[in-house]
Amino acid sequence: MSTNRLMMGLALGSSLLFGPHAQAQQTETTKMEFKVLADEFADIQVLRYQIPGFDLLTLQQKELLYYLSEAAAAGRDIIWDQNYKYNLLVRKTLEGIVANYEGERSGANWDAFMEYAKRVWFSNGIHHHYSMRKLQPGFDARYFATLVNGSPKGNFPRIAGKIKNNKQLLAFLNPILFDPNVAAKRVNQDAGVDLITTSANNFYEGVTQAEVEAFYAKQKVKDDPTPIWYGLNSKVVKENGKLVEKTWKAGGMYGAAIDKIVYWLEKAVSVAENDKQKTALELLVKYYKSGDLRDWDAYNIAWVADTESMIDVVNGFIEVYGDPLGMKASYESVVSVRDMVATRRIKAIGDEAQWFEDNSPILPEHKKKEVKGISAKVITVVQESGDAAPATPIGINLPNADWIRKDHGSKSVSLGNIVYAYNEVASKGSAIEEFAWDQTQIDRSRQYGALAGDLHTDLHEVIGHASGQLNPGIGTPKETLKQYASTLEEARADLVALYFILDPKMVELGVMPSLEVGKAEYDGYIRNGLMLQLRRLEEGDNLEESHMRNRQLNAGWAYEKGLANKVIEKKVRDGKTYFVINDYEALRELFGQLLREIQRIKSEGDFAAGAALVENYGVKVDQALLKEVKARYAKIGSKPYSGFIQPKLVPVYEGEKLVDVKVEYPDNFTEQMLEFGKKNAHLPVVN
Ligand code: ZN
Repeated sequence: MSTNRLMMGLALGSSLLFGPHAQAQQTETTKMEFKVLADEFADIQVLRYQIPGFDLLTLQQKELLYYLSEAAAAGRDIIWDQNYKYNLLVRKTLEGIVANYEGERSGANWDAFMEYAKRVWFSNGIHHHYSMRKLQPGFDARYFATLVNGSPKGNFPRIAGKIKNNKQLLAFLNPILFDPNVAAKRVNQDAGVDLITTSANNFYEGVTQAEVEAFYAKQKVKDDPTPIWYGLNSKVVKENGKLVEKTWKAGGMYGAAIDKIVYWLEKAVSVAENDKQKTALELLVKYYKSGDLRDWDAYNIAWVADTESMIDVVNGFIEVYGDPLGMKASYESVVSVRDMVATRRIKAIGDEAQWFEDNSPILPEHKKKEVKGISAKVITVVQESGDAAPATPIGINLPNADWIRKDHGSKSVSLGNIVYAYNEVASKGSAIEEFAWDQTQIDRSRQYGALAGDLHTDLHEVIGHASGQLNPGIGTPKETLKQYASTLEEARADLVALYFILDPKMVELGVMPSLEVGKAEYDGYIRNGLMLQLRRLEEGDNLEESHMRNRQLNAGWAYEKGLANKVIEKKVRDGKTYFVINDYEALRELFGQLLREIQRIKSEGDFAAGAALVENYGVKVDQALLKEVKARYAKIGSKPYSGFIQPKLVPVYEGEKLVDVKVEYPDNFTEQMLEFGKKNAHLPVVN
């Protein structure tokens, strides 16, 4: 699924710029004292998030959260090895230097080294977490040798038969760090090349794309209504000329880390909130022990059935974005508590799903007679690990298997305290002053932007994706709309949100105080879709990512269609470009028209029309504008990517007995990375 994960700035481009958020549990005092922004380097800012309400939980709940957090952390090494075969070797070498270098720890070279180390920690490896390109160090091999040789207590890694001393270590690492042609890209999606041999990830070794495709095609059972996710939890290698899977399970590949995960999960089972949660956790343990993907499915079915628990966890090999073939999943974990207040807001919207369907601008024959909103909740994150840290999603929709979603349901969650932290730091930034046309826009954004972003996400997830129906006999969008399916589906869900966020019904429901919230969302969406999101691209790039494509498609189409009536106006002041909405109601009508058309394309499976929309509006980028946006961002010093330092749960024991769990909020990224590197070091440097 390409729709199961929302990233900040991609999903909520607008709210990234917007002001303070009325999060009920967050008192004014904690807001004042708590510093969200902890560190900045390269294109990254490192933030901190709080766990409001933790102290109000029962001891049993705190204990459960502690065990699940330890389970999450225990798998951290896995993602490093999955991302690239020598990531752990690089990381341990960097950590040996950072902790032990006895020479001069200042100056341009040292600063460049520390920046590189932080970037590697942030990306869980040597490739940029978003662009997938290899990070280029700002220092050379000679300086690197000085660092290694100047750290006699570095305890640097060795590999039997290959690396016996520092000299051999440096010879081995030099091309990995400094040669741009070695392991150039972690995930390669370029058309017309072997995606496996040109990707540096560690999901396959010594095999070609054609061999892998043939290997799995043979295993697939035809017309299986409940297929396993083939290849999800293994590395494929060649042994004696034959392809074999090295399965990630207890006793298998990554077994040492998985044993630790299992150890903590079993403790979690002992303090589960209820039987459904207990069953789910037991099935997860069973799966980690067996590596059997049928056990994984059984776990997921039990997990979606557990809707009552306050505490929840995502833990496993989940997201498949790291594999160009979309089969192999990266390790990740998100531990959370339900946010009761914000969940009520989502429920108020979900309960009206039929009203939204009946009042949607789509054609009558494409409306569902009986629509059910997707059950959704807002969670307070307690701990993240693996692929979800330090960079985190802001929304998660799981499980991935289509048949489980259809037959058993799914869970859609929004990460409330993470979004809150983003909004806190954004409201202090100056991007809104730089890109908003006038004080009215700035004020509206500061007052309502965060709420507008939350409501957009709620409508997109709960109403948008659930709305509309296919014509009888039409294949799935993946079959009919092919490579455009996911961009068009995201565009459709966004348009549902945009259309209704300016509807008086939202005020009636009590989820927003006035239509000004909707206007704030429109301002932000247009600004982001036509300009701000371009900051993530390099000069010469066009749009590839489906969320970015869909935003430019929606904003660009509405801009063009409204040109004659100046619905949206492009203005230039002091050489700077602005997009200003003159008529919000007319823009709403345009969003409605585009929604009707994209729903028609989906319902009828009209590939040609879908392709034309995406190619004409969602791909090509105005390069002059891209340059301007990047320059304006550079001037205000705003970073395009964010991630988080994790809170630390500290158990309090009386003798053998756990009597309390306290939360600390570390504020030093480097210290946390060194601590995690030591504490969760469960795998050998090469697996
Ligand atoms: Zn979506």
